[in-house]
Amino acid sequence: MSNTVSPDPKFMRMAIELATDNVVTGNGGPFGAVIVRNGEVIASAANTVTSANDPTAHAEVNAIREACAKLKTFQLEDCDIYTSCEPCPMCMAALYWSRCRSVFYGNTKADAAAIGFDDQFLYDEVNRPLEQRRIPFQRMLPDEAIRSFQAWQNSNERIDY
Ligand SMILES: [Zn+2]
Repeated sequence: MSNTVSPDPKFMRMAIELATDNVVTGNGGPFGAVIVRNGEVIASAANTVTSANDPTAHAEVNAIREACAKLKTFQLEDCDIYTSCEPCPMCMAALYWSRCRSVFYGNTKADAAAIGFDDQFLYDEVNRPLEQRRIPFQRMLPDEAIRSFQAWQNSNERIDY
């Protein structure tokens, strides 16, 4: 546990307040997230799925986008995220892609499921063969699709990440 960071409750309280305020304002679900670096809040956001008409606008994704825009980076290696609820699989993946240092959460996914935000089906889908998924996934034009990868491999302009 070399990269263990001691959490500061004040940042979790901010995330919880964002989540609760979001219910009052009607901007989206009861979820809030705060991204912190060196004791400073870099970004704070609530869920805006219904107000922004964006199914990916979970609090964590909104906060990652805001933090990266502010810091002008695509990686948040020295940042910690405080989120009012255990991240769903999409946000968990986004947090991994962001390479943030640590994640602190308040409510559990079981708490979320109890009020109608059950993301267990996503964990189930990940383990299911493609042909058995609820949304059909079908491969097409592999010989043409691979050309973009070849272009990437041969590029001198690429930014590896
Ligand atoms: Zn999420």
